[in-house]
Amino acid sequence: MKVVAIANQKGGVGKTTTALNLSAALALRGQRVLLVDLDPQANCTSGLGIEPPDGCSMYPVLLGDTTVAQQILPTGRENLSLLPSEMDLAGVEIELARSDDHLTRLRNILQALKPNDLFEYCILDTPPSLGVLMTSALAAADEILIPLQCEYFALEGLSKIVHVIEQIRASGANPGLQIGGILMTMFMRNNLAQQVINEVQSHFGDVIYKTVVPRTVRLS
Ligand code: ADP
Ligand code: MG
Repeated sequence: MKVVAIANQKGGVGKTTTALNLSAALALRGQRVLLVDLDPQANCTSGLGIEPPDGCSMYPVLLGDTTVAQQILPTGRENLSLLPSEMDLAGVEIELARSDDHLTRLRNILQALKPNDLFEYCILDTPPSLGVLMTSALAAADEILIPLQCEYFALEGLSKIVHVIEQIRASGANPGLQIGGILMTMFMRNNLAQQVINEVQSHFGDVIYKTVVPRTVRLS
């Protein structure tokens, strides 16, 4: 099972849209996918049209009160399962911050899923912050996919996230964390967007995906 965190501490850059569509596309290709909604705003969950039962999220799993298997829901789509979120998940930030192993709990939970081969991909949708949920996702991931809006301020956010990735590696929690790629989103044909892409390319080269996601009302 390959764990991919869709992360960028900025909001509204296309994380959830990417997590949903990438998961659905992999599932359509016949890959068994577990989509984990780690954002208390639960947009992945509602985006799949799912209203989870009360208390169904990663929250009790992270606190050791239940198993991950008990929180996984079918989505009505072949090969695609969801570990949903709800507003209460926000409480994890406070509860886990107190514990010494908060960075590695999610990692250990997901590592335990790897041997049983139930899923080929685990896609993590993360909240727009640098809190416990987001850093836990980075500690748990084999690779990070960074959606980046084709806007100037996006560049400042990018250096910040690269710094966090280096910190996670250095902490020893996840020395093998790779940048899978930077995905340019909401592209419009204008000079600014092209300049931003060129700028990212000059710093990161091949790490930027060739596919650029256009701004289109069909996605929103
Ligand atoms: P994040 O999860 O990073 O906050 P979202 O995926 O929720 O970002 O996207 C923010 C908003 O922009 C949503 O309303 C979404 O529908 C819309 N959106 C995302 N990607 C595109 C796109 N390529 N074109 C047009 N609208 C988009
Ligand atoms: Mg989101």
